[in-house]
Amino acid sequence: MDSMFRTLDNLEADLGDLIGKVSLVRVDLNLPMHDGEVTDATRIRAAAPTILELAGKGAKVLLLAHFGRPKGDRSSTMSLSMVIGAVEAVIGKEVMFVPEVAGEVVAQAIGILRPGDVAVLENTRFWKGEEANDPEFAKAIAANGDFYVNDAFSAAHRAHATTEGLAHLLPSYAGRSMQAELEALDKALGNPEKPVAAIVGGAKVSSKLDVLKHLVAQVDHLIIGGGMANTFIAAKGVDVGKSLCEHDLTGTVNEILAAAEAAGCTVHLPYDVVVAKEFAANPPSLRTCNVHEVAADEMILDVGPQAVEALGDALKTCRTLVWNGPMGAFETEPFDAATVALARIAAALTKEGTLISVAGGGDTVAALHQAGVADEFSYISTAGGAFLEWMEGRELPGVAALSK
Ligand code: ADP
Ligand code: MG
Repeated sequence: MDSMFRTLDNLEADLGDLIGKVSLVRVDLNLPMHDGEVTDATRIRAAAPTILELAGKGAKVLLLAHFGRPKGDRSSTMSLSMVIGAVEAVIGKEVMFVPEVAGEVVAQAIGILRPGDVAVLENTRFWKGEEANDPEFAKAIAANGDFYVNDAFSAAHRAHATTEGLAHLLPSYAGRSMQAELEALDKALGNPEKPVAAIVGGAKVSSKLDVLKHLVAQVDHLIIGGGMANTFIAAKGVDVGKSLCEHDLTGTVNEILAAAEAAGCTVHLPYDVVVAKEFAANPPSLRTCNVHEVAADEMILDVGPQAVEALGDALKTCRTLVWNGPMGAFETEPFDAATVALARIAAALTKEGTLISVAGGGDTVAALHQAGVADEFSYISTAGGAFLEWMEGRELPGVAALSK
């Protein structure tokens, strides 16, 4: 894996001393904001090791990032000037803001920056050339830099000028966060220790069809939970009552099951479930039953405890786990029970050293935090779209451009 792309470890051998050299570093600063304040600095913390390592080696560090969807026009509400204070707080250094991404203004800023200084350039999506991956736009940005570092895995599924184009114009390197993500993902699905289990949950089969199709050919155990399990159960002719279910996908589900069987992948569906007549916290109609006993006016809202125990036993036989999607409607109590219990089993096996556990997806990561075990997983990906595309087995343009 290490040989597939260059990392910060290769910098000095390639470029010599970095003092005063200009690094163009693509990071993820698409931060959650409220009333002009950054409400969660996780993404800045993810980029900090790369920023500080480059600054520590004396490079001038120019950060490139997008924020929101300004669609190629300047927008005062989407300027990256808003994140300067938050970046300074995380990296513990003064940060300059430059209201352009290319041209003379950037060149002048570089003249003012000392070795080891950090600047944030303006929102790359203020220019149409970013999302169009316009080679002229990329060339104008590259003209001010000596080398390019991509540390934004979360944007790597987009072929944009600063996520892909720049890699063709300058010596290119994966930043530390990108490197950690790629190494973790490679361990989970690229080159995993077998047997491999995948847990796929969440609301709908239709949103994860390509994930399921890819996984059945890659993993030994496919564990299906969440709303998507209902669609699988219904496809087998079992009545799922009022449950969230995509009845029109019966044919597709049967194809997936046939592909799994042909590939020797065991598909696990819950045989007991938690149901209720109304979707509310701790509803009076709450009960646990066999999957064949769901009444016409009931909804399946979580996987049952017996199924969780059996799934835990299956995980004990596995060496690798990749997880996307909660097992139930985890935002509402007690329908988080299966997700939390399974997360704790996976965390315990990881701690014992028998399981490599990788998880990703917005709601999945939230659920693992809710279970209090996010830190105990081998790796948690915070890249929503890019993580799912990777689970679909797709080549990510931002990664491919680094791997030449
Ligand atoms: P991720 O963001 O991790 O990719 P998804 O967005 O695909 O996950 O799925 C999460 C959503 O699925 C949650 O909002 C959860 O409430 C919902 N969900 C899970 N199980 C069920 C169920 N049985 N019925 C209805 N919704 C469910
Ligand atoms: Mg989601």
